[in-house]
Amino acid sequence: MHYISTRGGMDPAGFTEVLISGLAPDGGLAVPEAVPVLDEATLESWRDLDYPALATEVIGLYASDLPREDLAAMTSAAYGPQRFPDPVVPVREVAEVASGLWIVGLSQGPTMAFKDLAMQFLGQAIPEVLARTGQVLTIVGATSGDTGSAAEHAFRGQEGVAVFMLSPLGRMSDVQRAQMYSLSDPNIHNIAVDGVFDDCQNLVKALNADADFKAEHSLGAVNSINIGRIAAQVVYYVWSWLRVSDAAPRAHRAEVEVDVVVPSGNFGNIYAGHLARRMGVPIRRLILATNENNVLDEFFSTGIYRPRSRGETLATSSPSMDISKASNLERFIAELLGPEEFSRRWPLLEQTGALDLSDHVDRLREEFGFVSGTSTHEDRLASIRLVHERSATLIDPHTADGVTVALRLMEPGFPTLVMETATADKFPETVAEALGSAPPVPAAITELLALEQHVTEIPNDLDVLRAIVAEGSRSA
Ligand SMILES: *Cc1c(COP(=O)(O)O)cnc(C)c1O
Repeated sequence: MHYISTRGGMDPAGFTEVLISGLAPDGGLAVPEAVPVLDEATLESWRDLDYPALATEVIGLYASDLPREDLAAMTSAAYGPQRFPDPVVPVREVAEVASGLWIVGLSQGPTMAFKDLAMQFLGQAIPEVLARTGQVLTIVGATSGDTGSAAEHAFRGQEGVAVFMLSPLGRMSDVQRAQMYSLSDPNIHNIAVDGVFDDCQNLVKALNADADFKAEHSLGAVNSINIGRIAAQVVYYVWSWLRVSDAAPRAHRAEVEVDVVVPSGNFGNIYAGHLARRMGVPIRRLILATNENNVLDEFFSTGIYRPRSRGETLATSSPSMDISKASNLERFIAELLGPEEFSRRWPLLEQTGALDLSDHVDRLREEFGFVSGTSTHEDRLASIRLVHERSATLIDPHTADGVTVALRLMEPGFPTLVMETATADKFPETVAEALGSAPPVPAAITELLALEQHVTEIPNDLDVLRAIVAEGSRSA
């Protein structure tokens, strides 16, 4: 399997190369040269595998330059009992809420959000690939919550990797803060910036723009465009189809077609679902759910992609979906248009601030199975309440956006799987608002909140950041 750039300016490269390099040299994103296709017998032969073994099979298709034994060791470590309960991804029907509605539990990992599933794989794969070539990596990132904590928990204590994570001072939830700042591993550096998330992101960009500094300290990222994260996310789409079809009589399993609902922001999670569908997993529709920042719902319903400005981006109660542009969408649009049309039309986005693909809008649904919907604050409160009343299950505000759109768009005869992207424990304030009283605090959270915290507070100042990264990356 080789990877090429969406913009056509990169020689075909192997998985291990694009895993470390991030953006292609022409500014595009790495995409598979050809998507692997599974036949029915192969899918069936995977039915009895446990999650790590299935991950080895699926990721192996995308990472054909990683030796099989190495990959198997990585997936057992990433998805083993130290990091995930068994089963790693529970899949269950909540028929009390709606017949045929299922919840796919993607948030059982150390930081209680689906990002752990991909990041834990990177935490194994990246150090291994670096070790082969004697390289080191300094990950500098900005987070408003989930990505940063997932990255720190995946790379803590790993050889050859130092993590510097910038977060806006005083703007994360207590749980998010504790998950990051309680780590005491010497290769993990928490930096609280006196500013907002955009200030953090601008500091990271400015540091990366300093080419000498970037090369000297081997700066890199593990953001949502990382191809290793995408490959690891394909696994749970295969897994959840297998679990839902387990219930059908043996002779009819292959006929089970599902709809999958994905609470979306940067289009990373659902892009993996799109790959699974193209691989031949019987996914009928990919239902994309957004919050009030509905750039993607607008695109999939009108064909017009219009990223928002910072001022137009709202702070909502499903904050991990508060995006102004969807960084992985370029991958899908490159496929939708094909290389020639893509190279002609994609630059218009930069030039005019929008891309009008309304001439392709029917194909989004008919060929690619995408439909979409928007959920508001009131909708998510209602969904949290409904699921709690009918099934005694607590869901978080992001998953609630998925449930809202699922209930609106689901059709009889097709199991509808909502991807749970975080747990309610991580976002107790909104859950309390929905239920009218605070949910019980699990003992693990009480313990987490009591741990000593390690964080360096800095002003919004590039020179201060540069000095901290220089100092810390040398000692890694
Ligand atoms: C990151 C995140 C999302 C959005 O996922 P994308 O891959 O960016 O579309 C949704 N919910 C939660 C809880 C997240 O952390």
